[in-house]
This record gives sequence, structure tokens and C-alpha cells, in this order.
Amino acid sequence: MQTHTSHRTLWVSLLAATCLMTWPAGSSAAGSRPVVHGLVNARTISPPPLQEVRYATTYNFLGRVLYATPDVWVHKDVARALQRVQRELAREGLGLKIFDGYRPFSVQCRMWAALPDDRYVSNPKKNRGRHTRGTAVDVTLVDRLGREFAMPTAYDFFGEAAHRSSRAWTPEQRAHSLKLEAVMERHGFVPYPFEWWHFDFRNWEKFPPLDISFRNLALGVKTATPIPDSPNS
Ligand SMILES: [Zn+2]
Repeated sequence: MQTHTSHRTLWVSLLAATCLMTWPAGSSAAGSRPVVHGLVNARTISPPPLQEVRYATTYNFLGRVLYATPDVWVHKDVARALQRVQRELAREGLGLKIFDGYRPFSVQCRMWAALPDDRYVSNPKKNRGRHTRGTAVDVTLVDRLGREFAMPTAYDFFGEAAHRSSRAWTPEQRAHSLKLEAVMERHGFVPYPFEWWHFDFRNWEKFPPLDISFRNLALGVKTATPIPDSPNS
């Protein structure tokens, strides 16, 4: 079992390295200059959403710690939109819980290596990712005590039951999912078809994919060199 795990870890590392080699420093990336990345910590949103950053723990589909800090970072335009969502939900005593926001490109590569199915993980060679731009959020609804609404599946359940077209949902699960969709859409987010929890900020493709680390974000680094978009994205 241990041997199997080691082989799998090695294989995932090799595949992730291949993905990262698509933009080696000194070639295509050399044309990019550092830009102000515009990412802000979701704790600055008022009222702040609850956070449960499973990728900063081993409680995720890879069983490995992928983020150095348990923080959610999003582009400042996205933070403003989430603040409008939070204020609308607060009128009913409700709020959002966020599982994920910005994800470094190098982590996207590792996830793709482990789960190369672009319904559930963006193919970084094709579109450089959605979460890598700070424009995607994985969210659910919570009540005033922070209890999650009953939703169709657990977060990061990769299968048809999580698809918005699923016919397996109970009326209650569908009503909750539609309530989340409606409030997110009112404030500029587009629901993703294969995951009830994933929403992209409109025009997400126009935001640059980034690979700044969580550590550097926590240190207050304000600029990053964008990953060049692939020609076929
Ligand atoms: Zn997502």
C-alpha cells in the first residue's frame, strides 16, 4: 500500500512538473511583466463569510496540504461583489461559507495531474485555470449559527450528483441550490454546470492567471508575473 502511494505521489509530481514546464522562465513567461495582482483576503469583506479552506489541510481529495495558509484570496472586484452577496443574505440572517478562492497555478497543475477530468479540475494547459485568477469561488449557504444548508452533495464530490442538471436532487436540495445560484447571479457570478458550489465572476477569462504563493500574499507582496494565457484558451 505504501509503495502504491509512493508511486502515485511520484507520478503526480512528474505530471505536475510537465504542466509547469509549459511556461518555463526565460521563454514565453519572459514577455510578461509583474502586474499589481489585486488579490485581497476575503476576511476584509463585511460581513466576512465563514471560511473552511480544506486545501490548507489534508482533508481534501488529494489528502495533502496544498495551501501554506488557511486563507481565501480573491480579486478585489470579486470581493466587492461577494460583499454585496453577504449584505443581501445578512438581511435574512444568512451568509456564505467559502471553501476556496484564488489557487496558485502550480497547485492547479498538481490537481490536474491527480484528477485530469476537466469537468472537475480546469486543464491548466488549456485555460490556465479558473481559480488561478482569483475570480472563482467555491461556496455554500449557512444560517445565522454557521450551519450549512442541506445541499445535493458534499463539497468536492466529483460525480453527476453534483451537476446542476442532476435529477437525483431532493426538492429541498434543489431549492437551496437555486437560492444560492440566484443571489450569486444577482451580483455578477456565473454558476458552473458540473459543481453546485462553484461560481465564476463574469468575464473571468480577462483576468490574468497567477502563481503567487499564499506565503507571499500573507507577506503583503502586491505584484506577480502573470502566467501567459495559452493560445487555444
Ligand atoms: Zn471551484
